[in-house]
Amino acid sequence: GREIRLAARPSGWPTAETFDLVEVDVPDPGPGQVLVRNLFTSVDPYMRGRMDDRESYVPPFRVGAPLDGGAVGEVVASGSDDVPEGSLVLHGLGWRDFALADAGAFRVVDAHAAPSPSAHLGVLGMPGLTAYVGLLDVAGFREGDAVFVSGAAGAVGSLVGQIAKLRGAGRVVGSAGSAEKVAHLVDDLGFDAAFDYKDGPVREQLRAAAPDGIDVYFDNVGGEHLEAAISALHRFGRVALCGAVAQYNDTEPPAAPRNLAAAIGKELTLRGFIVGSHGDRMPAFVEEVGGWLRAGRITVRETVVDGLENAPDAFLGMLRGQNTGKMVVRL
Ligand code: NDP
Repeated sequence: GREIRLAARPSGWPTAETFDLVEVDVPDPGPGQVLVRNLFTSVDPYMRGRMDDRESYVPPFRVGAPLDGGAVGEVVASGSDDVPEGSLVLHGLGWRDFALADAGAFRVVDAHAAPSPSAHLGVLGMPGLTAYVGLLDVAGFREGDAVFVSGAAGAVGSLVGQIAKLRGAGRVVGSAGSAEKVAHLVDDLGFDAAFDYKDGPVREQLRAAAPDGIDVYFDNVGGEHLEAAISALHRFGRVALCGAVAQYNDTEPPAAPRNLAAAIGKELTLRGFIVGSHGDRMPAFVEEVGGWLRAGRITVRETVVDGLENAPDAFLGMLRGQNTGKMVVRL
């Protein structure tokens, strides 16, 4: 089997020199251990932060050690009755062909929950739960709210907009980085309006897309987007601070938002969150979003890159916006 290691910590954008593809032996599982052949491995924005050597809510990757992160695979050998051979499992030992660990590291998931096992890395997994708790719990979404979401064509954002619509939003506006994505948001995902943030100042484009203002902003991007949202939010507006993907590769602090003080007079709530703190909402999420998925009321797009050797390119491509919906690597 093969694994991808962190060869060196990047400064700014990662490059080919950041990653090392290495051939490794695949050992037999010992008592209580499970061997999994990975089918899909996830590339996620938060992994960029883990390449830096600094304190965060997840420990940094170690130089010379394999990268890790979400993956789904099939159990090929098992020393545990809890995780039998042949089952589909979700776990955190991605970026490698085979995962070997104690049975407790693997969670058996429903192989029939979605057409592709990759759904457990996207709509039915961590990004889906992020959209659900971020919108409903963190931003305190209420029926009739006008919602703006950035990164709207991505894994999290595409679900935020659709969940808002299904829960009775007044108006749902999204931003994304290409004309194709903007068309996808309006034509396929049911957004009321969308714009390409590369076409001009976000503040002006948001004002045109939501002339009556917004109640909720779901922030995947930070910077200029957050600044524009602060100016468009109504009194008592709410912001879920989910991510700041616009600045993950920056070496200088961001120039925006410059209007944070407007949050005082407008009595805004800006609340950051980490999906890992909301695991208790998994059952409600699976029930509601899983139900919409089965009923065909949610549209899911994925961008699939083939081959572990292409995982670094998939990761970089995702940070550059080459994905629509969840970016996954098929092994
Ligand atoms: P996406 O599928 O949305 O992929 C990342 C997207 O970021 C790209 O497709 C690209 O789309 C967009 N992007 C890249 N650079 C910029 C830029 N300069 N300005 C605006 N958009 C940019 O990733 P996820 O759905 O997995 O994650 C979305 C956000 O949610 C990230 O910020 C991530 O860190 C955060 N997150 C937070 C979690 C939490 O617990 N708080 C959990 C999971 C995700 P485009 O073509 O539109 O530019």
